[in-house]
Amino acid sequence: MDFDFTPEEEAFRAEVQAFIAEHKPKKGTPQEMATWHEKVREKRWVGFSWPKDVGGGGGGIAQQVILKEEMAKAKAPSLGTCFMGLAWVGPSIIEYGTEEQKQQFIPDILDGKYHWCTGYSEPDSGSDLASVKCKCERDGDEYVVTGQKIWTSIAMWSKWIILLVRTGQGESKHDGITCLLVPMDTQGITVRPIQNMSGGTMFAEVFFDEVRVPVENRLGEEGQGWKVTISALAHERSSIAEVTSLQRSLEGLRELARKSTKNGAPAAEDRGIRRRLASIDARIEAMRLNGMRFLTKQLKGEPVGAETSVNKLTRAELEVEIGELALEMQGSQGVLGAGSGAVPDRGKWQNHALNWPEVVIGGGTPNIQKNIIAERILGLPKDPEA
Ligand SMILES: Cc1cc2nc3c(=O)[nH]c(=O)nc-3n(C[C@H](O)[C@H](O)[C@H](O)COP(=O)(O)OP(=O)(O)OC[C@H]3O[C@@H](n4cnc5c(N)ncnc54)[C@H](O)[C@@H]3O)c2cc1C
Repeated sequence: MDFDFTPEEEAFRAEVQAFIAEHKPKKGTPQEMATWHEKVREKRWVGFSWPKDVGGGGGGIAQQVILKEEMAKAKAPSLGTCFMGLAWVGPSIIEYGTEEQKQQFIPDILDGKYHWCTGYSEPDSGSDLASVKCKCERDGDEYVVTGQKIWTSIAMWSKWIILLVRTGQGESKHDGITCLLVPMDTQGITVRPIQNMSGGTMFAEVFFDEVRVPVENRLGEEGQGWKVTISALAHERSSIAEVTSLQRSLEGLRELARKSTKNGAPAAEDRGIRRRLASIDARIEAMRLNGMRFLTKQLKGEPVGAETSVNKLTRAELEVEIGELALEMQGSQGVLGAGSGAVPDRGKWQNHALNWPEVVIGGGTPNIQKNIIAERILGLPKDPEA
């Protein structure tokens, strides 16, 4: 792989830098953020790698890398406000949706008009997602859904849900799963928020009581929802596997090391802490380069697969390490709560340390990533339990 950029690509970098200098929000007011989104969207830099005929940028790999690098370097707000829509719902609709579905959903996702949530996990189906039971029967031109989902992030603020249901049984548990796109205000849907250990409520239980969904809201074929899910999960893992937020955390960690003390000297001068910071830095860089592998595949139109699990796993490990190191550097203050007023960076590191389940468990646990890497990348025998 050649990591040098061509003169055209460097010209694109200059264009991105000039754009950021002109339009990056100064204070982050809602109005400024809306204008920023509009401007980025006008450039077709939201959905940059999506095909032009659905409103994406049709961008190439090197340009995508440059765009992300420059946005991260300048600490610019993320490209687009509809996270799940952009990260995996949109790509799944582009891959499996009908023309009508593409026209209905893709422009709104690119415009960041509303949030999507993801209804995969159930109380007894998490790691073993193919065992979903949420019942779905066909009744004329509609499906009727009855069952429960759990851990559904941002369900309470979402307008649509991408939902996995069981329409039948087949030879394997992967058969008979169907994927539906359902408006959250449909009669029969109840959302019950769950509080997490940092006190926030960002996920929920979602109950379905004879919820009627038009057949045209099915994504992909009936009974073939597993294929759609595998693709969406790979996109989810590739977005979780992004390095931008890790790079920002590392930068914050370095600043914290400069202003903290260890044994009476700046923590940044402590050899142990320096070694740990360097180790985190090196692994983020390895993740970035590995990320280019699956970006290359995506942009060549090849399906992204098991390789995203490597970065998902590494990110989980790094996020935990970053949280622990940040609290350690705070010494005895590390045990104080985020809102105590006596902790640095307005309690950001306390929240970071308590929010680890989001990146460690969300999108699949480390054990599951290891199974995927073992079986699908290293070709080891299948887990007899799975
Ligand atoms: C913050 C957060 C946000 C989330 N958001 C969403 C969302 O928006 N939508 C959604 O659908 N889900 C969401 N989830 C759910 C998440 O995907 C599941 O929690 C996850 O897949 C694990 O499933 P589980 O909780 O049922 O645990 P289980 O599957 O019961 O696992 C329990 C333990 O057993 C281990 N284990 C299970 N099977 C194996 C195996 N075969 N080999 C080795 N070890 C195994 C696991 O690694 C884990 O340690 C979210 C979770 C969190 C924490």
